Amino acid sequence: MNYRELATTLTTILTLRWSPVAVKLLKPGEEVPEHVYEPSVPLRHCQAITIARRGNSLYMPPRKHACPDGAAIMGLIPMSPKLRSGELYLLFKKLPTLACARKMIATRQEFAAGTYAATVLAPLEDAGFEPDVVIFTLYPEQLMWLCCAASYSTGERHAFHTSGYNSTCADLTVQVMKNQKMNISFGCYGARAISEISDFEAYVSVPFQELGTLADALAKLAAKSIPEARRKIYMPPVIDKVSVPGPASAGTVAIRIDADRCTGCGLCEAFCPEAVLQLVADGGQQKASAPAAEKCCACYTCAGQCPQKAIQLTVR
Ligand code: SF4
Ligand code: SF4
Repeated sequence: MNYRELATTLTTILTLRWSPVAVKLLKPGEEVPEHVYEPSVPLRHCQAITIARRGNSLYMPPRKHACPDGAAIMGLIPMSPKLRSGELYLLFKKLPTLACARKMIATRQEFAAGTYAATVLAPLEDAGFEPDVVIFTLYPEQLMWLCCAASYSTGERHAFHTSGYNSTCADLTVQVMKNQKMNISFGCYGARAISEISDFEAYVSVPFQELGTLADALAKLAAKSIPEARRKIYMPPVIDKVSVPGPASAGTVAIRIDADRCTGCGLCEAFCPEAVLQLVADGGQQKASAPAAEKCCACYTCAGQCPQKAIQLTVR
């Protein structure tokens, strides 16, 4: 698989601001990939992701992991007793009782200490190694399309598992490696405090093996659904005054079809969920008409789908 092409497809379709980040956990004794560099200062895993999404390829042995919690969760070092016991969560006032802290710790995913020896990260387009997971930093709308793409061939819904604690290490790396299922995270205390993720961004992590299928589904969605949704084609012409007192509306919809513009393509009839519209013969041509206008629910699908902009709705 050509990682650069894959990254370009994903970035272009989703209009990503940041490169998706390829993340791999190296086993003890596993060769360090070429073209990854040990940073000059220790970084948290979330910071390393931020730096990689900016175009840097990193080799992160335990000595370069600044967050002992994250490094232990990813199996690089033993967990310190104070982190394992949950005490620190109480000191930071992130959880109210040791019982809560222990439950949260017990239900997150971890690798046993010594399972891995280092992490490597790179922008997907530059990755010289096969990643375990690919982590996106994105906006909710972009995340929605990834969710759609992941459901595209199966129809399956997603059951995400996250907590607001140990975001990039537990929820985005370990969990996705273990379950081989896409997962989201809204960041955690550490990631929000120090990693430059904006208030409007979230994360999603995808098992690398799923990424090609996801990109294929995105390409299909990009043929119609994504551009139409982004153009907001179903918007009624005026929606900002609906709560202003005015003449009472009976809720009836007047459908005006401009016969001069209509080419009789039939898209409006095909898309109308209420069977309001119908093509009829008109002077030797097929033209759209609205014989069942009383059934119209004002969904604006016909107005949005008509390539000729021949349909206008008025709600009275
Ligand atoms: S979609 Fe537009 S052009 Fe096509 S039949 Fe309907 S009104 Fe006419
Ligand atoms: S607005 Fe919706 S329900 Fe009404 S005619 Fe158009 S597609 Fe049908």
